[in-house]
Amino acid sequence: MMLSRHRERRRAGRRRGAPAQQSDMVQTTQTPGTDAASTRPFSLELNEEQLQLKRWIHGFAKDVVRPAAHEWDEREETPWPIIQEAARIGLYSFEFLQTAFQDPTGLMMPIANEELFWGDAGIGLSIFGSTLCVAAIFANGTPQQIVEWVPQCFGTPDKIQLGAFGVSEPDAGSDVSSLKARAVYDEARDEWVLNGTKTWITNGGIADVHVVVCSVYPELGSRGQASFVIGPGTPGLSMGQKFKKHGIRASHTAEVVLDNCRIPGRNILGGREKFEERVARAREGKSARVQAAMATFEATRPAVGAQAVGIARAAYEFALDYAKQRVQFGRPIIENQAIAFKLADMAVSIEAARLLVWQAAWMARNGKPFDKGQGSMSKLFAGEMAVKVTEEAIQIMGGYGYVRDNPVERWHRDAKIYTIFEGTSEIQRLVISRAISGVHIK
Ligand SMILES: Cc1cc2nc3c(=O)[nH]c(=O)nc-3n(C[C@H](O)[C@H](O)[C@H](O)COP(=O)(O)OP(=O)(O)OC[C@H]3O[C@@H](n4cnc5c(N)ncnc54)[C@H](O)[C@@H]3O)c2cc1C
Repeated sequence: MMLSRHRERRRAGRRRGAPAQQSDMVQTTQTPGTDAASTRPFSLELNEEQLQLKRWIHGFAKDVVRPAAHEWDEREETPWPIIQEAARIGLYSFEFLQTAFQDPTGLMMPIANEELFWGDAGIGLSIFGSTLCVAAIFANGTPQQIVEWVPQCFGTPDKIQLGAFGVSEPDAGSDVSSLKARAVYDEARDEWVLNGTKTWITNGGIADVHVVVCSVYPELGSRGQASFVIGPGTPGLSMGQKFKKHGIRASHTAEVVLDNCRIPGRNILGGREKFEERVARAREGKSARVQAAMATFEATRPAVGAQAVGIARAAYEFALDYAKQRVQFGRPIIENQAIAFKLADMAVSIEAARLLVWQAAWMARNGKPFDKGQGSMSKLFAGEMAVKVTEEAIQIMGGYGYVRDNPVERWHRDAKIYTIFEGTSEIQRLVISRAISGVHIK
């Protein structure tokens, strides 16, 4: 299997004493200077492991995902057989995520997302939707909680399980500090009692593991919130309305209703003791720690940006081929600057978005602070770019681009969510403008 080969190669490299992956990854371009930073090699060339991953996922996206995309978009249902196929080849698994997250360049997740979502965004989100829940566990959980819960977000190829991450509520979307869902600790039974409604939740109600962010001390706003894991079959959790959507229709989006939902005391991510310490610091006005929901979104934004790049690339490639073949006024339409320049602009903006995504992913993996809001930059630019590029693809195809016989209209519908979820474009601009100015822009 692909993943085993990755690990074997890495081990072999280490056995030989070679620094993992670097030998075949970089072309050394030495610059004058003596300090470590100035002699460190720089390259944007993907290494063999990353190229293999890209080819592997591209093959799955081309042969399995894209041919099924129209059907599942029309059915508006979770594509269980495709998720199962992804699990069989090791793509839908804890093991895959571990391998991807361990990549020291941080690029494996963006590469994987771009290729999979090139195939189809609705199916892509059904396969990678659990990742948000996993990211929440990684960002906030203890090592024991990670080991206990993350594998349960995937299950096995014979018994697929899903994860869901619930922050948004009917009255708290962009403003996550105003969550109404409450978590109350029942000392006598060492249990948390959860009440409230989460909305727009990817895999909501059909997931086996739900991580929900609830308020424990509402008077503290986001600093009084914590993340809780709700395990499979827990009474008191039910699915509310399932939404019919504009795009990414193969991905399940629904309300999650928490009605006296009781979970063990140890299911607070990070542990109760740590949480109470954080609350005590907040009450003293000392805490500057990022809130539970934000820690998750910061970590996932570059990967989400990469999904938008994948959709845009699909539409661009399709439109480019079409423009070379479509003849009007006796010549292929690409021979008109009006069409060729559109394609040139589409190509430029896709490349630019990918570079922002890779920069943010590299920064996140290497512990560089997003001092200019680079995570938000990548998601903002890629999301808006995907909407524009997919719209231009329709324009290039004329009427043929507007109908469901061709996939570009679906890609345009799918792209729109990238200016809305995981923080709207306006909220990304808020994060960036605050980061670059130091001013609390409202
Ligand atoms: C398909 C789909 C899947 C989703 N999946 C999940 C999920 O898995 N988990 C989850 O928790 N959530 C999920 N969401 C929710 C998503 O993150 C929210 O929809 C999003 O954060 C926006 O919140 P809202 O819809 O309440 O809009 P609002 O916050 O009400 O915003 C409405 C408009 O006002 C603007 N606005 C709001 N405040 C400001 C401000 N201060 N300055 C400028 N403009 C502002 C917004 O940008 C937007 O244009 C999903 C949503 C969708 C549609």
